[in-house]
Amino acid sequence: MEGKEPEEDEWKYHGEGNRSLVVSHVQHCQVLRFLKFPAELAQPNKALEEVPRRLNNIVDFSKHVMKPLLGENFVQPGEVIQLPLDFVCQLALKIKPERPGSRCNKVMDTFSGYTLCLPDLTKFQSCQRIERRPPLCIEIKPKCGFIPFSSHVTKEIKQRVCRYCMHQHLKVANGKWKRISKYCPLDLFSGNKQRMYFALKSLLQEAQNNLKIFKNGELIFGCKDDQDCLMDLNELANHLKAYFFPANGVVSGPQCTRTVIKELIHVISMALLSNPKAPTGAVKRNRDSEKRSYCEASHVPREALRNGIHSLENSDLPRDSVLWRILQVQMLDMLDIDGVYPLYQRVQQHLETSPKDRIRLHLDGPYDEDFYESLSDLRSEDDGTVEYAARKIHQYRVAMTAKDCSIMIALSPYPVEEGHEPSNEIQTSRACFVFSVSILDLDPKPYENIAHQYNLDGKIINYYVQKTKTKM
Ligand code: ATP
Ligand code: ZN
Ligand code: MG
Ligand code: MG
Repeated sequence: MEGKEPEEDEWKYHGEGNRSLVVSHVQHCQVLRFLKFPAELAQPNKALEEVPRRLNNIVDFSKHVMKPLLGENFVQPGEVIQLPLDFVCQLALKIKPERPGSRCNKVMDTFSGYTLCLPDLTKFQSCQRIERRPPLCIEIKPKCGFIPFSSHVTKEIKQRVCRYCMHQHLKVANGKWKRISKYCPLDLFSGNKQRMYFALKSLLQEAQNNLKIFKNGELIFGCKDDQDCLMDLNELANHLKAYFFPANGVVSGPQCTRTVIKELIHVISMALLSNPKAPTGAVKRNRDSEKRSYCEASHVPREALRNGIHSLENSDLPRDSVLWRILQVQMLDMLDIDGVYPLYQRVQQHLETSPKDRIRLHLDGPYDEDFYESLSDLRSEDDGTVEYAARKIHQYRVAMTAKDCSIMIALSPYPVEEGHEPSNEIQTSRACFVFSVSILDLDPKPYENIAHQYNLDGKIINYYVQKTKTKM
């Protein structure tokens, strides 16, 4: 970004989530990630002053908290930069027509002139292009991969069905998505080959906002919203066959689609289970955690599971694989919202009489080494203090971030015959890829979010129980 003035022609719409909007550079491996404001805040004065502080908080949280927790190799915190306001306004105008309708209740920040600059992870390898075929990238938002184990959980259903599977019913009822997905995060995080295969296949059948595929940085598969989806598996297979079957790329039809999709799922699983450090083997689950890793709403055929029992020794996540790392951080949520909410109320009550303690308790950062230190104290004997409450809230919020992040797998095709670093390559029957795995969307979740989470949790459970007539 140094040197010359940026020009809006050089940037294009890339995607957006609930809190930020991303544009990518047409040539370089760079994206700009802008904050968004509710559209009704036409002149968001107060929010505006806070933008640089919020952006710095995001970078600090990524750098000093999530990166050490998730692993050096996986996290790219990026940097805060300032841009000319007229560039930002022109850019906002240019990309407006490409934004999905369901996201237009918020507007891109064209007021502050600050943004985050990050490497474009969808074409991560392409800067050192070694090959004609452009890089592929698979983005997965895996969501929470375990059943709560907290003794504070009182509703029995929460110990049997995972949050994602319950939430599906409410989302379809609210019109957020058209169909229930058969994806269950517990299958993906199981480390069991069959369950992972089923989870990834389900994502390909119903991607929602949990799966996107990019070719050369362009979205070729996935949803912008429920109105605007690229979900044709035959078309996807057409894009991919030149990668997986470079020699006979002319074949097509259902058989071809099936074969290509199978190879794709295989490559994704390999990347998800790969271990950037020396292989130190899988981490054994004890019986208790085995129980927590199965969701009763999962659509994995029972029969496949029964067969899977023989291969249970293979069903653990390799230590230091991206899934293992994310799951460890998610499990910092030891009390569940049921246990955290009363602690939130304790802090709220305390702040009424001592509002200045909000800073002392680090409720809004700073996200520095001290904050990180406070995460390592995992004791859960409540001594009744507000310090204990704050510490548990920190841990819960960090876990929330890990439940909401995305995994980016970048794949660059590589000629099979050439020798290279075996640690970052994946072989399939006919092809070879160099790959890299990163984790993105690692923003801190606001402290106030806890009240919202508590209410939402209640709604999800009530709706699920009513809809499926399950016992609580
Ligand atoms: P959410 O609603 O999931 O919290 P968000 O508003 O925090 O989303 P992000 O998930 O960070 O926003 O970004 C939105 C999308 O932009 C991502 O899903 C991803 O496709 C794309 N994106 C974000 N950062 C990058 C990056 N560094 N390189 C490539 N693409 C990116
Ligand atoms: Zn589930
Ligand atoms: Mg996101
Ligand atoms: Mg986010």
